[in-house]
Amino acid sequence: MDLYVVVEPPELRERVSLDPGELSDLLAPGGPLSELHEAFEDRPGQREMLEIVTHQFNNGGVAIIEAGTGTGKSLAYLLPAAYWSRNNKERTVISTNTINLQEQLTIKDLPLVKALGGDVEWALVKGRGNYVSIRRALLAADAQRSLFEHDRSNEMAALLSWLEKTTDGSLSDLPFTPEPETWDEVRSDPDICLRSRCPHFQECHYQQSRRKAASAELLIVNHHMLFTDLAVRRATLNWTASAVLPSYNHIVLDEAHNIEDAATSHLGVEVTKRGLYRLLSRLERSGRGVLSAIYEQITTDSDQGRELQERIEMRVRPVLAQTRLKVEGF
Ligand code: SF4
Repeated sequence: MDLYVVVEPPELRERVSLDPGELSDLLAPGGPLSELHEAFEDRPGQREMLEIVTHQFNNGGVAIIEAGTGTGKSLAYLLPAAYWSRNNKERTVISTNTINLQEQLTIKDLPLVKALGGDVEWALVKGRGNYVSIRRALLAADAQRSLFEHDRSNEMAALLSWLEKTTDGSLSDLPFTPEPETWDEVRSDPDICLRSRCPHFQECHYQQSRRKAASAELLIVNHHMLFTDLAVRRATLNWTASAVLPSYNHIVLDEAHNIEDAATSHLGVEVTKRGLYRLLSRLERSGRGVLSAIYEQITTDSDQGRELQERIEMRVRPVLAQTRLKVEGF
């Protein structure tokens, strides 16, 4: 029998560890940061945090760090994240709660990280509804008289003129706040997107942002986007391929005191008084419902059947009535 190789097994990848001391020296007095930053001040807490984060990248696991204002925590996690991604080709997601922090990271901190040797590709990933759809905007401009209840001609004209100039195509780049009714008609929408069949696919700002994210090593997102991604992964049992976000190996949660709300809204189960009441009513209400249907199906020509009916009468119905009273009192 001849044996031959159909597909070579993937080579085991050796991870390249980071040197915490070397990274810490970048931020130390007399180091490169002090030469780059006019208002440099020594922050021992920042270096301590950087060493903890570096240790986590090297060894895996979870670190929970509480760092007060002025620690300089963004550089303390961005530098190890950037060096790790660059050396090991593994993607890291940086999740924040506020747009302000995302802007600080992308406008101020990441250029500094690049200047300090952490030259990686990064992408700010915003939710789809933040992006204009070129196709929808052009269609809405043509059909605006029948589409909108009020006159939106000035707004549509301003939007089309912005569309010719913008390189970003997202709401934060729009110099005015559009009426919700207008934005609803022009934003990118997954249900009506033509994707690769769209004549604007190549220049589409949303599609460009997703292509950029797919090739980036650092993704800057907000907590809601991260937990939307995690909810989709949990529902589809997909922990390795792309979901809402491209696949990633590490997560840094900044402003982590806000993750409870985001996690609850995307991964939690909501129980309302109305929902509970509806559930109880499905079981039994004025002699109807699932319980009564079961009761009627039970044949009483055996001891077992009679015992079952008695249990429903004596135990299940009283408990249901008590539960209903409790729910009403919530
Ligand atoms: S690709 Fe989709 S979102 Fe982009 S312009 Fe076309 S229809 Fe709109």
